[in-house]
Amino acid sequence: MKMTRSLTNFDQLPFKLKRERLQSKPSHLGFASCEPIANLINPDPMKPSLSNKKKLLAWYSDHQRDLPWRHTTDPYSIWISEIMLQQTTATAVIPFYNRFLEALPTVESLAKAKQEEVYALWAGLGYYSRARNLQKAAKLIVQLGHFPKTFSDLIELPGLGPYTSRAVSSFAFGESVGVLDGNVIRFLSRFENLPLEWWKTRERNQLQELADQWVANVNPSLMNQALMEIGSTQCLPKNPKCLICPLMKSCKAQADGVIDSLPLKKPKRQKELWSWNAYLVKKGKRVATVINDYSPFLKGQRLLPGKSRRLKVKPKTSKYKHHITHHEIFVTVHEKDSSILDSYNDVIWVEQDEIKKHVPFSLVHKVFDS
Ligand code: SF4
Repeated sequence: MKMTRSLTNFDQLPFKLKRERLQSKPSHLGFASCEPIANLINPDPMKPSLSNKKKLLAWYSDHQRDLPWRHTTDPYSIWISEIMLQQTTATAVIPFYNRFLEALPTVESLAKAKQEEVYALWAGLGYYSRARNLQKAAKLIVQLGHFPKTFSDLIELPGLGPYTSRAVSSFAFGESVGVLDGNVIRFLSRFENLPLEWWKTRERNQLQELADQWVANVNPSLMNQALMEIGSTQCLPKNPKCLICPLMKSCKAQADGVIDSLPLKKPKRQKELWSWNAYLVKKGKRVATVINDYSPFLKGQRLLPGKSRRLKVKPKTSKYKHHITHHEIFVTVHEKDSSILDSYNDVIWVEQDEIKKHVPFSLVHKVFDS
């Protein structure tokens, strides 16, 4: 009897044993290696209880921040907000979101807009490939004649990955799918004490399955937002607010004193050094721009003509330095005549004082700044 109790109550297992069992990937998350033991202990030790779901929803109802995209179920508005929220905080996104929707209030208006207008509305958010993909997807939605409703249809559109497609289908259409962003990954890793390498597909799928269980049998839109909210406002990367967390009593990382080590840290991508020799080709007040097929950073985007080269060491001189993702770029600027343009694609001359409108990258703006 004593033995049975100690095996069936997973929460009361000693930390070392519990951690070993979690790391041995139990069967309910799709792994067969320890299935007989997992079944003996508890068929689903990490299944969130209804009582914890209710606590989280009640907390969300009282503490949610008032954000403009929470007042709508319009899939277009939700989609715009979710793309903007990637890499940017909610507070910073609000003015961009309002301005974007005021100028382009429908998917049809986005599909018809000029790319420069979309870029101008996106200026300040960075990652312009997102703005480009937004417009590509908008054109496909207009061709389709309706907004796709399920995450499996949405994920077919350019720029909609597993996260955004689930967020739109859940928030706009109530599909019962868990949404896994960085905040939810942090919360789930700590709440269940899961030392997972979450950036790897198989381990991320375990977290996805767990997120799906949280939204099962409750309002999926509210639960997903509650999970994201607790991750972004309580279960903070540093100094989480455990003392006022509604789920503290059930939090395994809190009980085991391992909060600071979770979630595991994704190894950083190695930095690469690059030179960019930007060519300034002028015709009166206009400068030549081309489509970049000569450098790995900002590939396919409109830039100045130029050359780029991978470096082994930092150069002694450059006009300025600029970072784009893992590329550290050392820039020099050279005036050239128009004969060099023959080897570039899609040359367009633009007024120098309108360069920001046509080429929305600060890498290029700095060429003209000093
Ligand atoms: S108790 Fe602390 S670590 Fe656990 S879920 Fe709450 S805020 Fe996060």
